[in-house]
Amino acid sequence: MPSETAKIVRDRKTRIVATLGPASSSYEMIEKLFIAGVDVFRLNMSHGGSDGKDELIANIRAVEKRMHRPIAILADLQGPKLRIGQFENGSIMLNNGDIFHLDMNSKLGNSSRVTLPHKEIFEAMNVGTHLLLDDGKVKLEVTNIDGQDATCKVLVGGKLSDRKGVNVPNTVLPIAALTEKDRADLSYAVKAGCDWIALSFVQRPADVAEAKKLAGPGVAIMAKIEKPAAIDCLSEIVEYADGVMVARGDLGVEEPMENVPGLQKQIVRCARLEGKPVIVATQMLESMISSPVPTRAEVTDVANAVLEGADAVMLSAESAVGEYPIEAVSVMNRVTERVENDPTNSIAEFGISQMMANSTPGDAITAAARTVATTVHASAIVTFTSSGTTALRAARERPEAPILVLTPRIEIARRLALVWGLHTVKTKDINDFEHMIGKAKRMAFRTGLVTPGDRIVVTAGVPFGTPGATNVLHIAWINGNELN
Ligand code: PGA
Ligand code: MN
Repeated sequence: MPSETAKIVRDRKTRIVATLGPASSSYEMIEKLFIAGVDVFRLNMSHGGSDGKDELIANIRAVEKRMHRPIAILADLQGPKLRIGQFENGSIMLNNGDIFHLDMNSKLGNSSRVTLPHKEIFEAMNVGTHLLLDDGKVKLEVTNIDGQDATCKVLVGGKLSDRKGVNVPNTVLPIAALTEKDRADLSYAVKAGCDWIALSFVQRPADVAEAKKLAGPGVAIMAKIEKPAAIDCLSEIVEYADGVMVARGDLGVEEPMENVPGLQKQIVRCARLEGKPVIVATQMLESMISSPVPTRAEVTDVANAVLEGADAVMLSAESAVGEYPIEAVSVMNRVTERVENDPTNSIAEFGISQMMANSTPGDAITAAARTVATTVHASAIVTFTSSGTTALRAARERPEAPILVLTPRIEIARRLALVWGLHTVKTKDINDFEHMIGKAKRMAFRTGLVTPGDRIVVTAGVPFGTPGATNVLHIAWINGNELN
């Protein structure tokens, strides 16, 4: 009996996020990716908005049903990604030192000008502002502004083609975090039952607050950290958001690339202190877009994210459009398992375990659960949660034992699939203490997390069903009669 569920208990605590795309949209591929190790599927709304997403979501939910495991769906909004217009001949060549104009004229561009159809940027630009185009490959400096015509000097030249992206680092742009398209995509994602919505180019805490208000309580909001302005108010953003992403792609354009590793550590640490899940994203196994094996440096990058204590590592193009999506997931699965289970990487080296607990009963209990579980060599910590908060606090402690989360709410079970160390099962509600202990033992046994003779540590809130009331810690033995 335990076999069906036991097969899909991951032997690692770090979670894997994979972006779906043309290379991975069929039911068969999604099932294979899940079996290979994906816990969270990311839908990139930059590509086609809600078009075709109904089918992807239906496929994911069908896999979820077949595998009896809650799966999180993360809808990633494009955000105010700035783009230039098109050129008469599709592209131009810019040389260092050239003069080039950006304006609001809607005519097709040529070698001396192109449209930049965002009037707010002209207001925010100053003489000396740097503009990065096409992921930073081309660099311009503003030398004059005349209303909606910016004269620029080409600092780093190169080919520039239609609709390439524009980044304006170190400038807080007076633009809303959510474009019209984002609002439409957000409302679609909420209706379609996505579990997380990611916001791109967040600049301030108010951006997150606005999205939360629009999305309502049924979905969690993730702030992608990819702007220097967001770093400046990082802890407030982390406080407002339900989770964060180290979006290294744009972050490495907006910031000098050599700042990215340090910023990654800073963002992960900040999220860990707050007890919010954090994803390390972009180019983790980039070479696997076209190669069945990663580079040693990529393997080390994934390993380092695990050692920093990130909740999840992410695949973008590797799984969306690459030639080896399954292999990429398998590599992430193997690397995370290996690093976590390597005896030389003791839990202390996860670095931020045993952080100061907040002075709430819930934190006191979850911190104690970690210590008790270590002392009595418990095989699992079992936590009952209705809002998911207790489970997040338990994960924040980064205990050695896996955390079995029991919740009556499927949307909470799905949302928590992103979080480090949690194995969540949807169960019926419980109503008394004996019932709770019995169920904790039974579920721990059925999932295969424990065997007869093992101990478990159970935490819960009594009276039941009161969110945030975690106040009970109990040690129980598995005696093997749990299936009766
Ligand atoms: P993107 O976000 O892939 O949507 O641009 C991630 C990043 O910038 O790293
Ligand atoms: Mn980005």
